[in-house]
Amino acid sequence: MVIDLDSTQLDVDIDKLDLDASAIDKVRTGVRESGGLRVVLDVNRAVVPKSFTLPPNKQYSDRLVVDLDYPGASAVADPIDPIEAMIRDQEIAAQRAQKEAVAEGDPEQADAVAATVEAQPHPKRDIIIAVDPGHGGEDPGAIGPNGTREKDVVLGIARKLKQRFDQTPGFKAFMTRDSDYYVGLRQRTLLARQQKADFFVSIHADAVRSRQPSGSSVYALSQGGATSETARWLAASENQSDLIGGVDGNLSLDDKDEVLRGVLLDLTMTATMNDSLATGGQVLDKLGRINKLHKSKVEQAGFVVLKSPDIPSLLVETGFISNPKEEAALRSSKHQAELAQAIYAGIVAHFRQHPPPASLLAWQRDQGRGSASNEYRVRAGDTLSQVAAGHGISMRALKQANGLDSDILRVGQVLTIP
Ligand SMILES: [Zn+2]
Repeated sequence: MVIDLDSTQLDVDIDKLDLDASAIDKVRTGVRESGGLRVVLDVNRAVVPKSFTLPPNKQYSDRLVVDLDYPGASAVADPIDPIEAMIRDQEIAAQRAQKEAVAEGDPEQADAVAATVEAQPHPKRDIIIAVDPGHGGEDPGAIGPNGTREKDVVLGIARKLKQRFDQTPGFKAFMTRDSDYYVGLRQRTLLARQQKADFFVSIHADAVRSRQPSGSSVYALSQGGATSETARWLAASENQSDLIGGVDGNLSLDDKDEVLRGVLLDLTMTATMNDSLATGGQVLDKLGRINKLHKSKVEQAGFVVLKSPDIPSLLVETGFISNPKEEAALRSSKHQAELAQAIYAGIVAHFRQHPPPASLLAWQRDQGRGSASNEYRVRAGDTLSQVAAGHGISMRALKQANGLDSDILRVGQVLTIP
């Protein structure tokens, strides 16, 4: 890969660069005749380079960032287990079929197809949480009056948050970055989709000019942001990269006409936004017990990292790094752990109330149910249509009473009979 820079001289010792385990074997440079610099990266695998510039900071007057993406290889250190990935694919496909039928105005149609599939073994799968420490690398984020960098404190909080999830049976977390490098905003949401995340949480610290403001805030996507994102996803040129780049084709809509695609995305985004707001309320409640709240309600904004159409997402401003007192607190490992614990507890509280049907949490909840007269425990060989017919109710009613967003039944699952 060749990078030609105008009016530039070399000011680093390239032999001292740490290239271990990177795609770059060697960096070579040469002086161009016009007074510029040529940088050559000898790469050892196929890469997709992306570049952008960042505004000047104290250290540098010009900044060019070049990301080398590896096609086909996830940038996540600890990727999802292939079996779990398969289960998630099945769930997502079933949910999509459901939404399509609703969007097409014919909810019974999907029932007729999928409802005759026999109950499957309960996978007791983990709920997957994408933990996203904001900024990183060349982008330090906000900087406190005593020099604390947002990118460092949010990484600390994110690591503690991931650890809390990983210690909890039924949950697994991964980080969109696990050390000090920059990840593009769209890349963060793409990683969450690749890893089939059930939830995405981005960790930040606020800054304003005044030193006074303090406290935590929680953001979900705004309606305006959702609407403009729906438009963006529907724009043909963008579909090429994002919907196909949806990697697994989860949300591939290219076989649908435009009106249907619009309705489908609206349904998905509305459901996702409602989930985000409900979880945000829980997180805010827990944060309010350990920290002052800057805003007492979940705020809504059009942040790019919140724009996954199908993954509920929150952005947490943990505190004001511009407030010297809060800056000091954000640096402390104890306060970081408290913040992580509050965010963790809020998300877990939401999932305990609304566990995905195939999750370990749903299975655990159902262990204590099934004996009441209006409850039915799913057995091997059952199908949704049989269970409905056996109780003299419609499949619609059965699904609604149980909040089922797909037709897949799991052995051991307990259904409420309306
Ligand atoms: Zn930030």
